[in-house]
Amino acid sequence: MLVVGAGVAGLTAARNLSDSYDVVVLDKGRGVGGRLATRRIGDATFDHGAQFITTHTPEFAEVVAGWERAGVARPWFQGRIGPGGIVNPDGHTRFRGVATMNAIAKHLAEGLDVRVSSRVVALDPSDAGWRIRLDDAAELAAAVVVLTAPVPQALALLTAGPIALSAGDARALQSIRYEPCLAVMAALDGASGLDGPGAVHPSVGPIEWMADNGRKGVSATPAVTIHATAEFSERHLVSSDELVISELVRAAGLRARPIDGQVQVQRWRYARPATLHPERCLVADGLPPLVFAGDAFGGSKVEGAALSGIAASVAVASLLGRAEPPTRSGAPTDDR
Ligand SMILES: Cc1cc2nc3c(=O)[nH]c(=O)nc-3n(C[C@H](O)[C@H](O)[C@H](O)COP(=O)(O)OP(=O)(O)OC[C@H]3O[C@@H](n4cnc5c(N)ncnc54)[C@H](O)[C@@H]3O)c2cc1C
Repeated sequence: MLVVGAGVAGLTAARNLSDSYDVVVLDKGRGVGGRLATRRIGDATFDHGAQFITTHTPEFAEVVAGWERAGVARPWFQGRIGPGGIVNPDGHTRFRGVATMNAIAKHLAEGLDVRVSSRVVALDPSDAGWRIRLDDAAELAAAVVVLTAPVPQALALLTAGPIALSAGDARALQSIRYEPCLAVMAALDGASGLDGPGAVHPSVGPIEWMADNGRKGVSATPAVTIHATAEFSERHLVSSDELVISELVRAAGLRARPIDGQVQVQRWRYARPATLHPERCLVADGLPPLVFAGDAFGGSKVEGAALSGIAASVAVASLLGRAEPPTRSGAPTDDR
């Protein structure tokens, strides 16, 4: 069985299935985690994708409790973040990874056959299920494929091969859209000036969210992550790094200055689903066993991705005529 994508959805599905099946997980990235991402620049460390995790379902609360027991998640703060820090406590705990958000993905990947730097370029149906082609011309065979790449990227793998989705599946999948997010990571020459847990969610301007990775406990040295709004990100998706950095750093109004050569931009083309599929996964109609999953299915955010991964593992077991696999790891709202 093959899972494309070592983000939360793919790793969760693979963990649940790996007791009963041989599972291989492929990811084009250099490491696991997808949008649960952490980067080092010099001595600074940045969570530059997902910032925190909330739980809105008992099912996912149990998953996060497991991550806490494993020592890879812990509460960061309680309540919503506004322009001046925490406002309007809403009872939800915001969890963070220990020491980084990416540590959660590494934990999920433990013991699995995960192959990074492995970009899938096409899926072809075969007598045994699927033939999976990689960009280095390698080929793999699998009876079942679980696709957890953002949906436009997943669909590109199918259109590269001789496959026709049913009209209903094609319509449902092609209607899923994502918002982009430009993220600036800046190592600073002093304290950022952010108080409390070290995060702000401005109500106006080009910045959606800013976090001080030092205050969060992720970075040993001052380091901020600045996420642009979807509107700014759409407008500047192909603008130069210099322009993106200067606009966002100026708007941030930081107390300290970015260190020369230690500022980078990450362009998240598919940051967050703007439209969701109503079910937690989609089993393709009229094709060898193929399941679409990820945060665009039935939820969003890390919670939606994990629940989709669980749903995909249940769908796979049912396609193969087995009992449901046990859950081995674990509809959110916009809760910044
Ligand atoms: C800037 C930003 C901020 C966010 N903030 C939050 C937050 O605070 N809280 C929250 O809960 N969520 C947040 N999210 C959303 C959260 O990160 C996602 O919902 C979740 O991580 C999605 O997991 P996933 O497994 O569905 O997809 P992904 O993490 O995107 O995993 C898909 C994987 O597929 C791989 N892939 C794609 N194409 C191929 C291919 N052809 N071959 C091989 N591999 C391939 C990718 O490399 C990737 O690793 C944020 C996201 C972003 C980008």
